[in-house]
Amino acid sequence: MSDTPVVLVTGGSRGIGAAVCRLAARQGWRVGVNYAANRQAADAVVAAITESGGEAVAIPGDVGNAADIAAMFSAVDRQFGRLDGLVNNAGIVDYPQRVDEMSVERIERMLRVNVTGSILCAAEAVRRMSRRYSGQGGAIVNVSSMAAVLGSATQYVDYAASKAAIDTFTIGLAREVAAEGIRVNAVRPGIIETDLHASGGLPDRAREMAPSVPMQRAGMPEEVADAILYLLSPSASYVTGSILNVSGGR
Ligand code: NAP
Repeated sequence: MSDTPVVLVTGGSRGIGAAVCRLAARQGWRVGVNYAANRQAADAVVAAITESGGEAVAIPGDVGNAADIAAMFSAVDRQFGRLDGLVNNAGIVDYPQRVDEMSVERIERMLRVNVTGSILCAAEAVRRMSRRYSGQGGAIVNVSSMAAVLGSATQYVDYAASKAAIDTFTIGLAREVAAEGIRVNAVRPGIIETDLHASGGLPDRAREMAPSVPMQRAGMPEEVADAILYLLSPSASYVTGSILNVSGGR
């Protein structure tokens, strides 16, 4: 079995996840690049990594589907034979709506993808990395959002609540598995320039909100990836249960 560590990045095909995949490969990780629908984007991330001498594989799967999650982790087992890190990055927003306008379908989808998906992926990772299961230890980084603190009124309070759940999950899981060799942390990105805003019907959101950020600009996916890779790395060996704002002061 190769000694080279392996990380699975959910939603690794675009945005923050793709930046995490590229940086992880540069820092010596072998990378599972999960995607939901955009095979082409995942293949492009894999190609960029392999062209630079790294190792990566595209892994399909919807984190809103439990069977898909099981299949994703089986693919990691088959492809790499080990797991050392998980970045729970896949997440969705929705169109701006007040809470009193939201359908039950919308709220359930939001929570299924952003919360249930992250918890189920973490469970799969713990079963592979925890010393309780004869694993070698590892690190999990959950991708929360400043929305967890700010609430996203009139835009997507359901999304904000899903990210607040991620914050609490991070603290609880960190304490649950700390003695088993697994560190669990989170980042809270602020306004980051990705396709996410367009997927919520607001393609100009990052540019329009830049003046409201203390640093007067939106962040880049690579700036979030730097923080995530730090939390995954041995440099963060005594850091667990922490939530790092990557938000330009927002
Ligand atoms: P993005 O550009 O919209 O990319 C989303 C990624 O997640 C894509 O790779 C997509 O795969 C994947 N994905 C979506 N639904 C999925 C599902 N059900 N199962 C598996 N993968 C799925 O988003 P982003 O801005 O990079 O956001 C990444 C994370 O950062 C999210 O958790 C988001 O909430 C968080 N965040 C973002 C911002 C921001 O300003 N951008 C701020 C705070 C927090 P496909 O390519 O196959 O569609």
